Amino acid sequence: MKAIVSLNSGSSSIKFGVFRLDEGNHPVHSAGGKFEKISIAPSLRIATDAGEVLLEKDWPEGAHLTHADLLDFLFDWATRHIESGTIVAIGHRVVHGGTRFVAPQRVTPELLDELEALSPLAPLHQPHNLVAIRTLARLAPDLPQVACFDTAFHHDKPEVAARMAIPRSLHEAGIRRYGFHGLSYEYIARTLARLDPALAHGKVIAAHLGNGASLCAMANGRSIDTTMGFTALDGLMMGTRCGRLDPGVVLHLQTQMGYSAKAVETMLYRQSGLLGVSGISSDMRALAASREPAAREAVELFAYRTAREIGALTASLQGLDGLVFTAGIGENDAALRADICARLGWLGLILDEEANAAHAPLISAPESRIAVRVIPTDEERMIALHTLRILCGDLP
Ligand code: ADP
Repeated sequence: MKAIVSLNSGSSSIKFGVFRLDEGNHPVHSAGGKFEKISIAPSLRIATDAGEVLLEKDWPEGAHLTHADLLDFLFDWATRHIESGTIVAIGHRVVHGGTRFVAPQRVTPELLDELEALSPLAPLHQPHNLVAIRTLARLAPDLPQVACFDTAFHHDKPEVAARMAIPRSLHEAGIRRYGFHGLSYEYIARTLARLDPALAHGKVIAAHLGNGASLCAMANGRSIDTTMGFTALDGLMMGTRCGRLDPGVVLHLQTQMGYSAKAVETMLYRQSGLLGVSGISSDMRALAASREPAAREAVELFAYRTAREIGALTASLQGLDGLVFTAGIGENDAALRADICARLGWLGLILDEEANAAHAPLISAPESRIAVRVIPTDEERMIALHTLRILCGDLP
């Protein structure tokens, strides 16, 4: 058997999927796993698609294991449990490809150095993405690795959606709106084309609502605008990130309140969003279960800001035929979907309450002017597909 592994190494979790290649070399998901709570008390679970749990392990609190330590452990386990030669390539999610990398790339030392230089633009993600690539390059130097960029899906959006109203020289220097969550949106576009080809050809907003959250306006399956910009801070309110913010706030914090650049970064990336407003948690489930008024305020602000940005992207698209919810919150939180949709009634959007409560694939009422769908995202599959495409000439 030959297989491709896709790896999504984030700040507090590392997710991975094993895709067996069938006779036609199509990737078929066969097993997957996840390290969670890496900086607190790491845990690992690996299971096959048939439901067999291959490994469950918890490390004690204060174990101080790095991403590299955990990947070392996983590699050691894999070498003992998977026949040598089975894994033919590893694909990685890499958040920022900058202006240069607008399609998946085979990893080389030079590529890694260039991607390292983009780390300040995605401090929550890029360093962890690159540690995973470097660790595997050390452990298995002969194994091909492919970097798949979250920015790539947005790279050919119209220039007007890429520009910020700042001096031209800064735009030329790469300070422009890139957009992220591209692997997720690419998967949604592909899946929608299969489920509802007519809608996929129309004007659709996909809402990726997870710990990170953004919207993508798609016309005929291509990104024409998105809420995230130069970094993954812009746009929607998120678990711990602020989303769209008056830049004057940053100036005020630094010049009037004595914040260092590092303290501003920490506030914007780690102490804001649902966590900052609620003072309770960055996790939507915890807030939904809380009776605290601040928790309700945080959830209300999340819905308000999401609906507001859907309005803005509807103007970018000059109309709206469909709305797709995806990622942890979008796929699972029926109450939040209902709240967002209620704020879009003026667009002629009518929710089917029962279908929504049941997390049905189509949750709009038949008379709704806008079709509303729930599509579980699968970034790992996109990574496997890209990896396969890049390496197909080289596969044994
Ligand atoms: P990540 O960006 O880390 O991949 P996810 O897409 O897994 O994030 O989304 C995590 C978010 O989804 C958390 O806020 C979590 O509370 C929320 N979530 C997951 N399941 C549910 C659920 N059943 N109801 C409400 N929120 C949920």
